[in-house]
Amino acid sequence: MSFRTIIEPFRIKMVEPITMTTEEERKTLLREAHYNPFLLEAKDVLIDLLTDSGTGAMSTRQWAGMVMGDESYAGAVSWQHMHAVIHRLTGMEHVLPTHQGRAAERILYSYLGGPGKTFISNTHFDTTRANIEYSGAEALDIPIPEGTQPATIHPFKGNMDTEKLEALLHEKKAENIGAVILTVTNNSGGGQPVSMANAREVSRLCRQHGVLFVLDCCRIAENAWFINHREEGYGDMTYEAIAQEMFGLADAAIMSLKKDGLVNMGGFLTMRNKELSDACTNLLIITEGFATYGGLSGRDMEAIAIGLQEVFEPDYLRYRIRSTAYLGEKLAAMGVPLIQPIGGHAVYVDAKAMLPNIPPSEYPGQALVCALYEVGGIRAVEIGSVMFGKYDAAGQLVTAPMELVRLAIPRRVYTQSHMEYVIEVFEEVLRRKDQLKGLRIMEEPKFLRHFTCKLERLH
Ligand SMILES: *Cc1c(COP(=O)(O)O)cnc(C)c1O
Repeated sequence: MSFRTIIEPFRIKMVEPITMTTEEERKTLLREAHYNPFLLEAKDVLIDLLTDSGTGAMSTRQWAGMVMGDESYAGAVSWQHMHAVIHRLTGMEHVLPTHQGRAAERILYSYLGGPGKTFISNTHFDTTRANIEYSGAEALDIPIPEGTQPATIHPFKGNMDTEKLEALLHEKKAENIGAVILTVTNNSGGGQPVSMANAREVSRLCRQHGVLFVLDCCRIAENAWFINHREEGYGDMTYEAIAQEMFGLADAAIMSLKKDGLVNMGGFLTMRNKELSDACTNLLIITEGFATYGGLSGRDMEAIAIGLQEVFEPDYLRYRIRSTAYLGEKLAAMGVPLIQPIGGHAVYVDAKAMLPNIPPSEYPGQALVCALYEVGGIRAVEIGSVMFGKYDAAGQLVTAPMELVRLAIPRRVYTQSHMEYVIEVFEEVLRRKDQLKGLRIMEEPKFLRHFTCKLERLH
């Protein structure tokens, strides 16, 4: 007998109270945060869907592992545990621990990058792009065309356009290409999976042209679930074996363990090539820490070793993917325009379609984010022109191709009734959608402006 209701495959033995607030209080709080939810205090948020990064709940096994953490400076037992799990999963010889994903990115891309270099990806994640551009290199996104059409259904919308990749590899000399980066799942493009066939073709082209193939594998377990359920020939394979096969296609991998590592902090960089590893290890020691801890404490490394195994458990992945889809299906049924099909870690609302009265230059995604907070205390993030908008030579705003709002679901944190509440808040926001106002940016930093920029509501 299999039941329709998929229960959370865990029970709760420690609770963290949520502070309730009123709409009036939230209006003031949001104004004080300059209409940028990144500037809100977390205690003023009811349901925090800002990110799934580092916001998950650890298991009893992981907490038990924390106590066993070996805090030795060099050669800690916990490092050996972490190393063994990553080595078995990736099959790559050289593993460098880092405090989070972007530290690994900074090390690898500052070494491979620099002026004149080009990096190519299905979609560069924001910190990936920032690290590449900060080095002076350029970052090109080549998702498949379906990847930028919110309503188009495709089983592997995160795929890279391999025809464009081939053309770019012919056009540019191999020595001018820093790396080809396949992000699985494709985060900024909609949390969408990448097929094994696509990864295989990317790998083939990279080998043919002598270009480094890097897997940005933050959500490799969620991606493996989609391959198992959607790609011909993978239905009988374990999720871990699917991930192992994908790693087998790459030359290097970067992971933020704050996602599918099921921990609150951590990352790694791994590769096959010793020369590259030696160069990166030098940079690691200068800024992160010695090669056997790289900015992590022993207890972190112990929790990582356990989390990176738990994430491949079938009951966990089934709950994870289904609970995200549940929220998406309910919102879609209400008429909220979403990126379809629903991805693994988040539901992406197409704010341009939902709020056609607000032009992209007035940030419809940010307007929706602000409404969700004021109406229901929900914190979400804009992935549109606030995050990716650029100015041309004349100082005119060039808007992003999509205006999205991401509802990212923390792992093992919220229950189904929390999601029912989110759905109800959306019902109310839909009723008010014609009254919502756009915004303008008052103050912004040079890189990753969405984190700290200050906005003002237009009238
Ligand atoms: C989160 C993330 C990163 C960066 O990792 P941090 O741990 O946040 O520094 C890089 N790439 C992708 C796809 C991510 O989701």
